[in-house]
Amino acid sequence: MKRTRKWIAGFIMLMAGACGGAGDDARPITGEVNVYSGRHYDSDIVLFDQFTEETGIRVNLIEAGGDALIERITQEAEASPADIFMTADAGILWRADQRDVFRMTDSEALEERVPAQYRHPDGKWFGLSKRARIIIYNGEMGLPEGLETYEDLADPAYRGMICVRSSSNIYNQSLLASIIAHDGAEEAEAWTKGVVDNFARKPQGNDTSQIEAVAAGLCRLGIVNSYYTARFKGADDPKAAAIGDKFELFFPNQNGRGAHVNISGAGVTKYAPNAENAEKLIAFLLRDESQAAFASGNNEYPVVPGVAPQGPIAAYADFKADELPASALGEHQAEAVGIFDRAGWP
Ligand code: FE
Repeated sequence: MKRTRKWIAGFIMLMAGACGGAGDDARPITGEVNVYSGRHYDSDIVLFDQFTEETGIRVNLIEAGGDALIERITQEAEASPADIFMTADAGILWRADQRDVFRMTDSEALEERVPAQYRHPDGKWFGLSKRARIIIYNGEMGLPEGLETYEDLADPAYRGMICVRSSSNIYNQSLLASIIAHDGAEEAEAWTKGVVDNFARKPQGNDTSQIEAVAAGLCRLGIVNSYYTARFKGADDPKAAAIGDKFELFFPNQNGRGAHVNISGAGVTKYAPNAENAEKLIAFLLRDESQAAFASGNNEYPVVPGVAPQGPIAAYADFKADELPASALGEHQAEAVGIFDRAGWP
Protein backbone atom coordinates (compact mmCIF):
# COMPACT_ATOMS: atom_id res chain seq x y z
CA MET A 1 0.00 0.00 0.00
CA LYS A 2 2.86 2.36 0.65
CA ARG A 3 5.87 3.16 -1.44
CA THR A 4 9.14 2.50 0.28
CA ARG A 5 10.01 5.66 2.04
CA LYS A 6 10.84 6.44 5.60
CA TRP A 7 8.09 8.46 7.18
CA ILE A 8 9.08 10.76 9.96
CA ALA A 9 6.40 10.89 12.64
CA GLY A 10 3.79 13.45 11.80
CA PHE A 11 2.57 14.68 8.49
CA ILE A 12 4.06 15.86 5.28
CA MET A 13 2.40 18.62 3.39
CA LEU A 14 3.00 18.96 -0.28
CA MET A 15 1.75 21.81 -2.34
CA ALA A 16 1.16 19.98 -5.58
CA GLY A 17 0.83 22.51 -8.32
CA ALA A 18 2.18 25.35 -6.26
CA CYS A 19 5.28 25.46 -8.44
CA GLY A 20 4.52 23.65 -11.70
CA GLY A 21 0.90 24.68 -11.78
CA ALA A 22 1.61 28.34 -11.24
CA GLY A 23 4.28 28.61 -13.92
CA ASP A 24 4.28 31.17 -16.73
CA ASP A 25 1.94 29.24 -19.01
CA ALA A 26 -0.32 27.74 -16.38
CA ARG A 27 -3.70 29.07 -15.44
CA PRO A 28 -3.74 31.32 -12.42
CA ILE A 29 -4.73 29.60 -9.19
CA THR A 30 -8.40 30.27 -8.63
CA GLY A 31 -9.20 27.79 -5.90
CA GLU A 32 -7.96 24.87 -3.89
CA VAL A 33 -8.82 21.41 -2.69
CA ASN A 34 -7.35 19.70 0.36
CA VAL A 35 -6.67 15.99 0.04
CA TYR A 36 -5.93 13.80 3.06
CA SER A 37 -4.45 10.67 1.53
CA GLY A 38 -3.40 7.30 2.86
CA ARG A 39 -1.85 6.57 -0.55
CA HIS A 40 1.75 7.55 -1.07
CA TYR A 41 2.51 7.41 -4.76
CA ASP A 42 4.37 9.91 -6.92
CA SER A 43 1.95 9.14 -9.74
CA ASP A 44 -0.91 10.60 -7.67
CA ILE A 45 1.02 13.87 -7.36
CA VAL A 46 1.62 13.98 -11.12
CA LEU A 47 -2.15 13.67 -11.64
CA PHE A 48 -2.86 16.38 -9.05
CA ASP A 49 -0.47 18.67 -10.92
CA GLN A 50 -2.28 17.99 -14.19
CA PHE A 51 -5.58 18.78 -12.49
CA THR A 52 -4.20 22.09 -11.26
CA GLU A 53 -2.89 23.01 -14.69
CA GLU A 54 -6.23 22.28 -16.27
CA THR A 55 -8.55 23.82 -13.69
CA GLY A 56 -6.54 26.38 -11.74
CA ILE A 57 -7.49 24.51 -8.57
CA ARG A 58 -4.47 23.90 -6.35
CA VAL A 59 -4.23 20.51 -4.63
CA ASN A 60 -2.91 20.61 -1.08
CA LEU A 61 -1.91 17.11 -0.05
CA ILE A 62 -1.51 15.67 3.41
CA GLU A 63 -0.22 12.11 3.53
CA ALA A 64 -0.38 9.74 6.49
CA GLY A 65 -1.78 6.33 7.38
CA GLY A 66 -5.50 5.88 6.72
CA ASP A 67 -6.47 5.37 10.36
CA ALA A 68 -4.32 8.33 11.50
CA LEU A 69 -6.06 10.57 8.98
CA ILE A 70 -9.50 9.40 10.13
CA GLU A 71 -8.45 10.33 13.66
CA ARG A 72 -7.22 13.71 12.52
CA ILE A 73 -10.35 14.56 10.53
CA THR A 74 -12.51 13.48 13.45
CA GLN A 75 -10.59 15.67 15.87
CA GLU A 76 -10.59 18.66 13.54
CA ALA A 77 -14.34 18.22 13.20
CA GLU A 78 -16.09 21.25 11.68
CA ALA A 79 -12.78 23.11 11.44
CA SER A 80 -11.20 20.40 9.27
CA PRO A 81 -9.69 21.74 6.06
CA ALA A 82 -9.99 18.25 4.55
CA ASP A 83 -12.10 18.12 1.39
CA ILE A 84 -11.25 14.56 0.31
CA PHE A 85 -10.29 11.50 2.29
CA MET A 86 -8.50 8.99 0.07
CA THR A 87 -7.21 5.60 1.13
CA ALA A 88 -6.68 1.97 0.19
CA ASP A 89 -9.04 -0.85 1.16
CA ALA A 90 -12.80 -0.60 1.48
CA GLY A 91 -12.41 -1.67 5.10
CA ILE A 92 -10.71 1.64 5.92
CA LEU A 93 -13.30 3.60 3.92
CA TRP A 94 -15.94 1.83 5.98
CA ARG A 95 -14.17 2.76 9.22
CA ALA A 96 -14.08 6.39 8.05
CA ASP A 97 -17.79 6.28 7.33
CA GLN A 98 -18.43 4.83 10.80
CA ARG A 99 -16.67 7.91 12.19
CA ASP A 100 -18.88 10.15 10.04
CA VAL A 101 -16.00 11.43 7.92
CA PHE A 102 -17.93 11.62 4.63
CA ARG A 103 -20.87 13.47 3.18
CA MET A 104 -23.24 12.03 0.61
CA THR A 105 -22.26 13.00 -2.89
CA ASP A 106 -25.12 12.85 -5.34
CA SER A 107 -23.24 12.96 -8.61
CA GLU A 108 -24.38 11.18 -11.72
CA ALA A 109 -21.04 11.93 -13.32
CA LEU A 110 -19.23 9.94 -10.63
CA GLU A 111 -21.82 7.18 -10.41
CA GLU A 112 -21.66 6.61 -14.14
CA ARG A 113 -17.93 5.98 -14.01
CA VAL A 114 -17.74 3.59 -11.05
CA PRO A 115 -19.59 0.25 -11.11
CA ALA A 116 -22.08 0.04 -8.22
CA GLN A 117 -20.16 -2.69 -6.40
CA TYR A 118 -17.13 -0.39 -6.06
CA ARG A 119 -18.83 2.67 -4.55
CA HIS A 120 -20.84 3.50 -1.45
CA PRO A 121 -24.59 3.17 -2.09
CA ASP A 122 -25.16 6.78 -0.95
CA GLY A 123 -22.12 8.25 -2.68
CA LYS A 124 -20.00 8.58 0.44
CA TRP A 125 -16.99 7.09 -1.30
CA PHE A 126 -16.01 6.01 -4.79
CA GLY A 127 -13.51 3.36 -5.83
CA LEU A 128 -10.60 4.70 -7.86
CA SER A 129 -8.61 1.51 -8.49
CA LYS A 130 -8.84 -2.20 -7.77
CA ARG A 131 -6.59 -4.89 -6.39
CA ALA A 132 -7.11 -8.61 -5.79
CA ARG A 133 -6.00 -10.60 -2.75
CA ILE A 134 -4.60 -13.75 -4.26
CA ILE A 135 -2.59 -16.90 -3.58
CA ILE A 136 1.04 -17.19 -4.67
CA TYR A 137 3.08 -20.37 -4.75
CA ASN A 138 6.71 -21.38 -4.98
CA GLY A 139 7.49 -22.04 -8.63
CA GLU A 140 9.73 -25.04 -8.03
CA MET A 141 7.38 -26.77 -5.59
CA GLY A 142 4.37 -25.90 -7.75
CA LEU A 143 0.75 -25.37 -6.86
CA PRO A 144 -0.33 -28.17 -4.50
CA GLU A 145 -2.75 -30.57 -6.10
CA GLY A 146 -6.44 -29.82 -5.66
CA LEU A 147 -6.03 -26.25 -4.47
CA GLU A 148 -8.65 -24.11 -6.20
CA THR A 149 -10.30 -21.82 -3.67
CA TYR A 150 -9.66 -19.71 -0.58
CA GLU A 151 -11.78 -22.31 1.22
CA ASP A 152 -9.31 -25.04 0.19
CA LEU A 153 -6.54 -23.28 2.14
CA ALA A 154 -8.06 -24.75 5.33
CA ASP A 155 -7.68 -28.33 4.06
CA PRO A 156 -5.32 -30.43 6.25
CA ALA A 157 -3.65 -31.53 2.99
CA TYR A 158 -1.85 -28.17 3.02
CA ARG A 159 -0.43 -28.40 6.53
CA GLY A 160 2.67 -26.29 7.13
CA MET A 161 2.48 -24.56 3.75
CA ILE A 162 0.95 -21.12 4.26
CA CYS A 163 2.66 -17.78 4.87
CA VAL A 164 0.45 -14.76 5.53
CA ARG A 165 0.69 -11.55 7.52
CA SER A 166 -0.98 -10.74 10.82
CA SER A 167 -4.75 -10.48 11.17
CA SER A 168 -4.45 -6.94 12.49
CA ASN A 169 -3.94 -5.95 8.85
CA ILE A 170 -7.01 -4.64 7.04
CA TYR A 171 -6.34 -6.73 3.91
CA ASN A 172 -6.85 -9.96 5.86
CA GLN A 173 -9.87 -8.52 7.68
CA SER A 174 -11.50 -7.65 4.36
CA LEU A 175 -10.68 -11.08 2.89
CA LEU A 176 -12.25 -12.83 5.87
CA ALA A 177 -15.21 -10.44 5.70
CA SER A 178 -15.78 -11.63 2.13
CA ILE A 179 -15.64 -15.26 3.26
CA ILE A 180 -18.16 -14.50 6.04
CA ALA A 181 -20.42 -12.84 3.46
CA HIS A 182 -20.29 -15.86 1.16
CA ASP A 183 -20.01 -18.85 3.51
CA GLY A 184 -21.53 -17.57 6.75
CA ALA A 185 -19.79 -16.83 10.06
CA GLU A 186 -19.68 -20.41 11.29
CA GLU A 187 -17.96 -21.77 8.20
CA ALA A 188 -15.69 -18.74 8.11
CA GLU A 189 -14.54 -19.47 11.66
CA ALA A 190 -13.85 -23.13 10.85
CA TRP A 191 -11.94 -21.94 7.80
CA THR A 192 -9.84 -19.52 9.81
CA LYS A 193 -8.88 -22.25 12.30
CA GLY A 194 -7.96 -24.54 9.43
CA VAL A 195 -5.72 -21.91 7.87
CA VAL A 196 -4.02 -21.25 11.22
CA ASP A 197 -3.32 -25.00 11.45
CA ASN A 198 -1.70 -24.79 8.02
CA PHE A 199 0.65 -21.90 8.80
CA ALA A 200 4.26 -22.48 7.78
CA ARG A 201 5.29 -19.93 10.41
CA LYS A 202 3.81 -17.41 12.79
CA PRO A 203 2.44 -14.42 10.83
CA GLN A 204 5.10 -11.77 10.44
CA GLY A 205 6.02 -8.91 8.12
CA ASN A 206 3.95 -7.40 5.33
CA ASP A 207 2.81 -8.84 1.99
CA THR A 208 6.29 -8.30 0.53
CA SER A 209 7.75 -10.48 3.31
CA GLN A 210 5.38 -13.29 2.33
CA ILE A 211 6.48 -13.05 -1.31
CA GLU A 212 10.13 -13.25 -0.29
CA ALA A 213 9.41 -16.23 1.96
CA VAL A 214 7.53 -18.10 -0.78
CA ALA A 215 10.27 -17.32 -3.32
CA ALA A 216 12.89 -18.60 -0.86
CA GLY A 217 10.92 -21.82 -0.32
CA LEU A 218 10.24 -21.11 3.37
CA CYS A 219 6.60 -21.64 2.54
CA ARG A 220 4.93 -23.15 -0.49
CA LEU A 221 1.91 -20.82 -0.44
CA GLY A 222 1.32 -17.16 0.39
CA ILE A 223 -1.67 -14.82 0.51
CA VAL A 224 -0.89 -11.34 -0.85
CA ASN A 225 -2.37 -8.37 -2.68
CA SER A 226 -1.86 -8.52 -6.42
CA TYR A 227 0.11 -5.27 -6.76
CA TYR A 228 2.94 -6.49 -4.53
CA THR A 229 3.68 -9.30 -6.99
CA ALA A 230 4.20 -6.76 -9.78
CA ARG A 231 7.00 -5.11 -7.81
CA PHE A 232 8.95 -8.33 -8.38
CA LYS A 233 7.52 -9.72 -11.62
CA GLY A 234 8.09 -6.46 -13.44
CA ALA A 235 11.20 -5.27 -11.62
CA ASP A 236 14.16 -3.63 -13.36
CA ASP A 237 16.29 -4.35 -10.31
CA PRO A 238 17.88 -7.77 -10.98
CA LYS A 239 17.63 -8.86 -7.34
CA ALA A 240 13.89 -8.19 -7.23
CA ALA A 241 13.41 -9.76 -10.68
CA ALA A 242 15.21 -12.92 -9.48
CA ILE A 243 12.67 -13.19 -6.65
CA GLY A 244 9.93 -12.61 -9.22
CA ASP A 245 11.14 -15.68 -11.14
CA LYS A 246 10.70 -17.93 -8.10
CA PHE A 247 6.98 -17.60 -7.44
CA GLU A 248 3.75 -17.73 -9.44
CA LEU A 249 0.33 -16.12 -9.06
CA PHE A 250 -2.87 -18.09 -8.55
CA PHE A 251 -6.28 -16.44 -8.66
CA PRO A 252 -8.62 -18.56 -6.53
CA ASN A 253 -12.33 -19.37 -6.90
CA GLN A 254 -12.21 -18.97 -10.68
CA ASN A 255 -14.84 -21.70 -11.14
CA GLY A 256 -17.06 -20.08 -8.53
CA ARG A 257 -17.57 -16.57 -7.21
CA GLY A 258 -14.16 -15.21 -8.32
CA ALA A 259 -11.14 -13.78 -6.54
CA HIS A 260 -11.56 -11.30 -3.69
CA VAL A 261 -11.24 -7.75 -5.01
CA ASN A 262 -10.75 -4.60 -2.99
CA ILE A 263 -10.33 -0.94 -3.91
CA SER A 264 -8.51 2.28 -3.33
CA GLY A 265 -11.09 5.00 -3.03
CA ALA A 266 -12.01 8.49 -1.98
CA GLY A 267 -14.95 10.51 -0.74
CA VAL A 268 -15.86 14.12 -0.04
CA THR A 269 -15.64 14.91 3.67
CA LYS A 270 -18.58 16.03 5.79
CA TYR A 271 -17.24 19.54 6.48
CA ALA A 272 -15.36 20.02 3.19
CA PRO A 273 -14.82 23.76 2.65
CA ASN A 274 -14.25 23.12 -1.07
CA ALA A 275 -16.72 20.34 -1.78
CA GLU A 276 -17.32 21.37 -5.37
CA ASN A 277 -13.60 21.28 -6.15
CA ALA A 278 -13.38 17.94 -4.38
CA GLU A 279 -16.01 16.46 -6.68
CA LYS A 280 -14.16 17.90 -9.66
CA LEU A 281 -10.92 16.23 -8.58
CA ILE A 282 -12.57 12.84 -8.05
CA ALA A 283 -14.22 13.16 -11.48
CA PHE A 284 -10.82 14.01 -12.96
CA LEU A 285 -9.27 10.88 -11.42
CA LEU A 286 -12.06 8.79 -12.94
CA ARG A 287 -11.39 9.92 -16.51
CA ASP A 288 -10.02 7.26 -18.84
CA GLU A 289 -6.68 9.05 -19.18
CA SER A 290 -6.24 9.50 -15.42
CA GLN A 291 -7.42 6.01 -14.55
CA ALA A 292 -4.58 4.17 -16.24
CA ALA A 293 -2.00 6.38 -14.53
CA PHE A 294 -3.69 6.34 -11.13
CA ALA A 295 -3.95 2.54 -11.10
CA SER A 296 -0.51 1.80 -12.50
CA GLY A 297 1.18 4.02 -9.91
CA ASN A 298 0.63 1.10 -7.55
CA ASN A 299 0.22 -1.69 -10.12
CA GLU A 300 -3.52 -1.78 -9.50
CA TYR A 301 -6.37 -2.28 -11.96
CA PRO A 302 -8.44 0.69 -13.19
CA VAL A 303 -11.91 0.77 -11.62
CA VAL A 304 -13.58 2.28 -14.70
CA PRO A 305 -14.68 -0.50 -17.09
CA GLY A 306 -12.88 -0.55 -20.40
CA VAL A 307 -9.69 1.13 -19.24
CA ALA A 308 -6.80 -1.28 -19.79
CA PRO A 309 -4.40 -1.96 -16.92
CA GLN A 310 -0.81 -0.91 -17.57
CA GLY A 311 2.57 -2.29 -16.61
CA PRO A 312 3.47 -5.73 -15.28
CA ILE A 313 0.03 -6.34 -13.75
CA ALA A 314 -1.55 -6.23 -17.23
CA ALA A 315 -0.37 -9.83 -17.69
CA TYR A 316 -2.49 -10.78 -14.65
CA ALA A 317 -5.62 -8.79 -15.35
CA ASP A 318 -7.75 -11.46 -16.97
CA PHE A 319 -9.47 -13.16 -14.04
CA LYS A 320 -12.93 -13.60 -12.59
CA ALA A 321 -13.55 -11.12 -9.78
CA ASP A 322 -15.87 -11.59 -6.82
CA GLU A 323 -18.89 -9.32 -7.30
CA LEU A 324 -19.50 -8.80 -3.60
CA PRO A 325 -20.08 -5.06 -3.03
CA ALA A 326 -17.05 -3.38 -1.43
CA SER A 327 -19.36 -1.96 1.24
CA ALA A 328 -20.05 -5.51 2.51
CA LEU A 329 -16.41 -5.85 3.55
CA GLY A 330 -16.83 -3.25 6.27
CA GLU A 331 -20.12 -4.67 7.44
CA HIS A 332 -18.41 -7.93 8.41
CA GLN A 333 -15.19 -6.37 9.71
CA ALA A 334 -15.92 -6.57 13.45
CA GLU A 335 -17.05 -10.17 13.05
CA ALA A 336 -13.85 -10.97 11.16
CA VAL A 337 -11.67 -9.50 13.91
CA GLY A 338 -13.52 -11.61 16.50
CA ILE A 339 -13.02 -14.77 14.46
CA PHE A 340 -9.30 -14.10 14.00
CA ASP A 341 -8.92 -13.69 17.77
CA ARG A 342 -10.76 -16.89 18.61
CA ALA A 343 -8.89 -18.84 15.93
CA GLY A 344 -5.50 -17.73 17.25
CA TRP A 345 -4.38 -15.92 14.09
CA PRO A 346 -2.19 -13.25 15.67
FE1 FE B 1 -0.50 -2.36 0.45
